[in-house]
Amino acid sequence: MPAANFTDDEHQRFHWIKQHRAAKKSTKHPRNRKVADTRRKESVAPTIARDLDILALDAYGTSWMERWQGMFKTFDISHLRSPMFFHVDPSERDGLLSYAYANGRSDELRELHGCVGKELSKHQRKKREKMGREQQNNPTIDERERKDYYVPSTPLFFSHCDCLVDRYKLDDTILSQEQVEDIRYDYVREYSDEEKLFCVKTNKGCHYGKIVVLAIGGNAPQIPCPLSTEETEGATHAMHIKTFPPPYMQSKMASKARTNLLIVGGGLTSAQIADLAIRRGINKVFLIMRGPLKIKHFDLGLEWVGKFRNIEHAIFWNSNSPEERCKKVMEARNGGSITPYYKKILEKHISSGRLDMLLHTTIDEKKWNPMLKTWTVSLKGEREDLPPINHIYFATGVGTNFECLPCLQSMCRDYPIENCSGFPCITEKMSWRHDVPLFVAGRFAALQLGPGAHNLIGARIGADRIAWSIQEMLGKEENSDQSNWGQDRFNYLTGRGSRYNALADVSYLADD
Ligand SMILES: Cc1cc2nc3c(=O)[nH]c(=O)nc-3n(C[C@H](O)[C@H](O)[C@H](O)COP(=O)(O)OP(=O)(O)OC[C@H]3O[C@@H](n4cnc5c(N)ncnc54)[C@H](O)[C@@H]3O)c2cc1C
Repeated sequence: MPAANFTDDEHQRFHWIKQHRAAKKSTKHPRNRKVADTRRKESVAPTIARDLDILALDAYGTSWMERWQGMFKTFDISHLRSPMFFHVDPSERDGLLSYAYANGRSDELRELHGCVGKELSKHQRKKREKMGREQQNNPTIDERERKDYYVPSTPLFFSHCDCLVDRYKLDDTILSQEQVEDIRYDYVREYSDEEKLFCVKTNKGCHYGKIVVLAIGGNAPQIPCPLSTEETEGATHAMHIKTFPPPYMQSKMASKARTNLLIVGGGLTSAQIADLAIRRGINKVFLIMRGPLKIKHFDLGLEWVGKFRNIEHAIFWNSNSPEERCKKVMEARNGGSITPYYKKILEKHISSGRLDMLLHTTIDEKKWNPMLKTWTVSLKGEREDLPPINHIYFATGVGTNFECLPCLQSMCRDYPIENCSGFPCITEKMSWRHDVPLFVAGRFAALQLGPGAHNLIGARIGADRIAWSIQEMLGKEENSDQSNWGQDRFNYLTGRGSRYNALADVSYLADD
């Protein structure tokens, strides 16, 4: 059960994997400690990668995570939102933490106040609630996990990612900047009449492959209300910001004219844009959200990361239907929220009069004047009118509906799968279907990964599970070392089913 990824069992599991690989490689020199040690270091490098012909396609850039870097720079984000064990190092749960200490960069960690303390189980919390005791700000993370509840600085996180790129020799040559337009899975006469291949069509050509992994985040960002061509000048989706604020506003600011900004959205990005706008000198910012202001350290509840997380994961894993799992994902994420850290920043701006935050409020009507480059906006909610607005930013996130993705139209037609509220019902091995090795990572894999799928933790666990599935698939195909990669062992290593099943069959140990 993937819940094990978060427990102490995880350490045991990875230790077991490492030990197993190291032992396997060093059998020729069992007494030669030096050789064994070097090999253990090697053991973190992927064993199958050398034989695989891998190509990564990214519409956005020519280096890894360029889109992320771009967004963090645009929003001037100094620290990540997620705790220390949310990172992309597959070999070590504490990889980012140890990287920070090993490189003398522990001063780049910022403590998350109010998370750690005496932890209460859901049962204990409910009991207290029944007794009428206040629960709101109770810490939910056990003291012994305090070290995890820091957030890394943005430069530290990216240095760690660079270090992984070096470790796994993922230089930019395997990355190509191409927009995937279509994916088909069929027989390709030039290659084989017996085996189907993927044909991945991009804006630059066509690539063939046995296996495709889809890690495309969510749907394309869309402004929730339709805009005319003229109006697009006056409004931007947060994910499409290139220059902040837009050039025509910068000119106004340069001429010392008064500037007003409207931001729509109740998530962290809206708070970050509001803070940035004020720091850049915009006179007044209006931040509106359709619901209440939600304050959370992470975008999923602490019960999914704290000591009692296994309860939530177990419920998720035991859900009988995709609908139940989907409901769990929605409940755990519960829309946009901001961190206590940013709440303080916003409060400071509110008290200085530079920010108005309007809850339970939506845009009623808006009219763009292209000559003056201002909006006349009326609202529904806490307040009805606004002064002329120079620009509207929509920090409304991205949608999740795989059937609307242009690049998946052929797959949806030729190999239809169930759609549960926009999430594809992929297999437990993370593939599109058992007979279609199109693996799905990231938020579209939420029905297999749980609510963390949208975050770095989901990216890591998803990658881990997909790598095992691919390794199993290739192992089977090449009929190599079949006995070593039996189902029990695969389940053990990927943390599925009862991990003790594998121990019933110890015959393979004799080979190692
Ligand atoms: C401002 C911001 C801050 C965040 N901070 C955190 C944080 O602190 N911690 C955390 O855990 N999560 C954070 N997140 C969530 C973060 O988005 C995810 O953790 C992570 O990016 C998920 O990775 P991914 O690979 O699934 O998707 P993405 O990072 O969205 O990557 C998808 C990639 O696919 C490419 N792509 C999409 N469609 C195509 C196509 N058709 N053809 C070719 N390429 C395509 C895109 O260009 C992009 O590079 C943050 C998100 C934002 C927006």
